[in-house]
Amino acid sequence: PLTAGIVGLPNVGKSTLFNAITKSQVEAANYPFATIQPNVGVVEVPDARIDRLVELFHPKKTIYTTFEFTDIAGLVKGASKGEGLGNQFLSNIRLTDAICHVVRCFDDHDITHVEGSVDPIRDIEIINLELIMADLQTVENRLGKIERKAATNKDKEALAEVSVLKKIQEALAAGKAARSVELDKEELLIIKSMSLLTLKPMIYIANMSEEEIGDASNNAYYQKVKAFAEAEHNEVVPICAKIEEELSELEKTEKDMFLSDLGIGESGLDKVIKAAYHILDLCTFLTAGEDECRAWTFHKGMRAPQCAGVIHSDFQKGFIRAETYSFKDIDELGSEHAIKEAGKLRLEGKEYIVQDGDVMHFRFNV
Ligand code: GDP
Repeated sequence: PLTAGIVGLPNVGKSTLFNAITKSQVEAANYPFATIQPNVGVVEVPDARIDRLVELFHPKKTIYTTFEFTDIAGLVKGASKGEGLGNQFLSNIRLTDAICHVVRCFDDHDITHVEGSVDPIRDIEIINLELIMADLQTVENRLGKIERKAATNKDKEALAEVSVLKKIQEALAAGKAARSVELDKEELLIIKSMSLLTLKPMIYIANMSEEEIGDASNNAYYQKVKAFAEAEHNEVVPICAKIEEELSELEKTEKDMFLSDLGIGESGLDKVIKAAYHILDLCTFLTAGEDECRAWTFHKGMRAPQCAGVIHSDFQKGFIRAETYSFKDIDELGSEHAIKEAGKLRLEGKEYIVQDGDVMHFRFNV
């Protein structure tokens, strides 16, 4: 499964957020395939479409799709030079698919800031610089090896790799993330195995106080982070980690009441889950019936047989066709019977590119 790593300076609220994640963790009984390690939290992806399908089908079982977060504690200034446990943390980030960067946007005199004051942009730049420096080392090491090969053998592949690496090196040396470099599909493939940290998609999480979260846009720190993130084409999600921790201990109805008291429609954690899902180009297809209503994750652009394979490899091997309709249609029409009457049931073949919100019945040979 894909995983988003939670990073940030010490004392910004990472552990508080990660506690909220682990307390909201899915029950292993429903998700037997989830491998749960101490620094990993597996949460359900909230999806109102599933809730609506449950109303229509009254299934025996309801299963949301899941998403995984990894706690990467202890990234500090100097990590790329091996300070603290620097290298180990950086290699933990290397194993993740996306980065959630927690930034402190709350004042609290009782909680020390490692840099002596609250300044979210400075904090962002410290962390980003560590990631950039680590990538620069990786790129330069690789260049040292591959440039010699390119020069002596005029090897085509080596030459192509050198050209991509040089572009990235230039950006990194100028203090910019690798993701800021425009690269085509082939170029991305060439450098894929290097797992560059600053090539991973990233979101910022602005952690603010209980008093301010109801009206986040009035928080001056948040405004700064938002402007900074927009300039980088990154998203920022406002949360109050402390509230998330309290919310994670409540039942659903209590939770909804608490949220509406605070003037928030959706919990910060739910927003973070959705944002992380989104930046990884993940989509959801649905299966619906009286036994089970269930959401499944797939990568944007996947065809029907591959999506069948998400459920079971036999479905993919023996794929015949997919009987498909859009969630939007059943939401309007109210039943599969009405979908058929209205001519909204589609028979899709091997080439069909599955869309987010498709409800799928796969037909396959065994
Ligand atoms: P980490 O070092 O980034 O993991 O930070 P922690 O999660 O341990 O948080 C550091 C301190 O800040 C703890 O005392 C938390 O209770 C406190 N804290 C975390 N989030 C919030 C918040 O949203 N508001 C306030 N006032 N304190 C917070």
